Amino acid sequence: MQEKEKFAPHVEDINRALNGKLSEEQIEEELRTYTERYGVPLGSAKRSIVKKYEGNPQDLYTNTEKSIEDIIGDEQGLDLKCRIVSINEKEIEVDDKPKQIWYGILGDDTGTIPFTLWEEPSIELNKGDTVKVENAYANTWNEKPQINIGSRASIKEIDSDEVPDFESEAQKLDLKDIRENMRNLDITARITSIEKKIVNGRDDEEKELFSGIIADETGKAQFSAWHDFDLSEDDVVRIKGGYVGSWRGIPQYSFDENAEVEFLDDDELSPSEELDDLSVYTISDLAKRGGAIDAVIDAVMIDIKSGSGLIFRCPECGRVIQKGACRVHGKVEGEPDLRVKGILDDGTGALTVIVNRELTEDILDYDMEKAMETAKDAMNQEIIKDDLEEKLIAQPLRVKGNITSDDYGLMLIANDFEYKSIDVEEEARKMLDEVRV
Ligand SMILES: [Zn+2]
Repeated sequence: MQEKEKFAPHVEDINRALNGKLSEEQIEEELRTYTERYGVPLGSAKRSIVKKYEGNPQDLYTNTEKSIEDIIGDEQGLDLKCRIVSINEKEIEVDDKPKQIWYGILGDDTGTIPFTLWEEPSIELNKGDTVKVENAYANTWNEKPQINIGSRASIKEIDSDEVPDFESEAQKLDLKDIRENMRNLDITARITSIEKKIVNGRDDEEKELFSGIIADETGKAQFSAWHDFDLSEDDVVRIKGGYVGSWRGIPQYSFDENAEVEFLDDDELSPSEELDDLSVYTISDLAKRGGAIDAVIDAVMIDIKSGSGLIFRCPECGRVIQKGACRVHGKVEGEPDLRVKGILDDGTGALTVIVNRELTEDILDYDMEKAMETAKDAMNQEIIKDDLEEKLIAQPLRVKGNITSDDYGLMLIANDFEYKSIDVEEEARKMLDEVRV
């Protein structure tokens, strides 16, 4: 049914161009043969069918043009009317020979997309030109769609009114507001860590990847730069033209040679240590965002789950064992560990928190050896969990760590943990502010 709807306007268009020479069923049959059996792009298929039955392809007018926001990658036969937001030239090597290509950004009123032009165009192309591209194809690269204008495609200049005006400026955002799949962003941040990796790119060629963490006054994000911008730790940079991918639900900012990187004065942003303390999120923000690295949340522990306190792990796989048996490896000699698996609630939402052995020892104020002894004396392993409940339940806490999200919700792996004394004055001021709004 849906398929039929997809063809309907084109069947009608061909029918009109052929003056009823074929029935609608025959036209649909032809269209399917061309597009589905032979993989001919819809636009070319329509022209061929009209020609085959002695009509004039110029009489066709339902176009097969796509808006940029509808291009999701891996599509053939794309036609689009757009504006050249940026264009650059570069030399690459193909079969050991130098080759000139052009790349940049195309835009329309629905969005922007990177493009590569693989052959010298028949007309000179400049930033701001309005063009019609025919028979291009899209693929995805570094998780985002891009347009390729190859030897079978054409590009020609058209009247500028054919594409409505649009804002091609990158969207300025704070790091706490970035979300998966956003494109063409304008982010100002400090690089708090960076490392270079070699990864396999297209065609297995080795590619340099610079990745690390960026921070602004609102939050932090991992970043991936697919081009050597000569970035160093502590630089304050403005990165225009990046896009947001994600890893385990945590948004990551990525950018490549299409991005513009500007180095700013150091005092544009607080020093790294201060930015560290500023990544405080509410749980509802995190749920919308999908997760965060090095995030800080202020919340109350409302529950301690079973599997907290003194636990035993399988020496093979590290899973928590029950009654001396691992779910995968059967009866094993368990290795002791301490942890907290609890629920934190900040009034806007709740998440699961996992606290490791070291931090759990701090909370208990005794170490694992003591925990083992205590449990042995009481002949009850649960006694440690009881201690944790006493120390944690209903306590306001400040917890820091990486937060991932999946189908089960948010999970915070704590790497820092402190009791938060409630600042009465501050709370009172907040309440007053809320009343005033
Ligand atoms: Zn196991």
